[in-house]
Amino acid sequence: MITAKTKVCMVIGDPIAHSLSPEMHNAGYQALGIAGEFVYVAANVRIQESEQAIAGFRALGIRGISCTMPHKLEVMRYLDEIDPIAQKIGAVNTIVNDNGKLTGYNTDWLGIITPLEEKTNIAGKKIVILGAGGASRAMAFGLTQKRAEVTILNRTVANAKTLAKEFLCNFGSIDDIETIRDADIILNATSIGMGEMSNESPIPEELINKNMIIFDAIYHPYETKLLQYAKNKGAQTIHGLAMLLHQGTAQFTLFTGQQAPVAAMRKVLLSHAK
Ligand code: NAP
Repeated sequence: MITAKTKVCMVIGDPIAHSLSPEMHNAGYQALGIAGEFVYVAANVRIQESEQAIAGFRALGIRGISCTMPHKLEVMRYLDEIDPIAQKIGAVNTIVNDNGKLTGYNTDWLGIITPLEEKTNIAGKKIVILGAGGASRAMAFGLTQKRAEVTILNRTVANAKTLAKEFLCNFGSIDDIETIRDADIILNATSIGMGEMSNESPIPEELINKNMIIFDAIYHPYETKLLQYAKNKGAQTIHGLAMLLHQGTAQFTLFTGQQAPVAAMRKVLLSHAK
């Protein structure tokens, strides 16, 4: 039961109505029998109100905050401390409030590394990241941290170059897509495959082979064109929902101090897969 002692966690973003985080975290509380101790809600917060929202978290004693677009950079200005990994990635997706002291973390990279490590040993693998935005940044950090040989290909080469310099990767244009033929792992961090581009794939089917692992960050649609191509070719696939799940399970632990019930949290996400 929710009582006066229940700790509140929440996600902020704009837009936020589509977020699956409340269901995922609350399912985790249920599974561990701590649904009276913690509750997780969502708030639509405009970017201009980021600072006021942070003041509100302090005033109300909100225990944990997940930050999604467009807040991941802006909130960093108002926190008391930023964990070194979040500092290196340059973005915060998680804020923990310890008696008024707000610390920013980044768990997005764990959303990438955890499902990949379930399938392979990342060290020494030839990996291509398509895209050079926020998701790509967390990928570049995590994969170079694990000593992979990473190449970033992007539509705007200058963005790939900036990221590649920061994380000591190779870079190029997404037009040089032929170069992925000898990659072990390919990650899509572009918007190609979602929304108006849901019928498109960032790479043609003929460049995929059965020895590859193909990871698409997009989670809506659940099975993107790219993942359909990968399946057709017998390659291993990782869905964007796995990334959402594992950045969330790491947040869960930061908020509650408990190991996340992964299966219960995965189940609720999969119930939304379409
Ligand atoms: P972002 O910062 O806006 O970056 C978007 C990237 O896509 C940029 O590299 C951009 O290239 C490229 N791009 C956009 N339209 C393109 C087009 N028509 N052709 C070629 N490239 C195009 O976005 P983000 O936050 O990194 O998100 C990227 C993807 O990851 C999205 O699909 C998002 O849904 C997904 N994502 C998933 C999760 C998860 O938990 N599963 C978490 C975060 C993001 P330019 O640099 O040339 O503009």
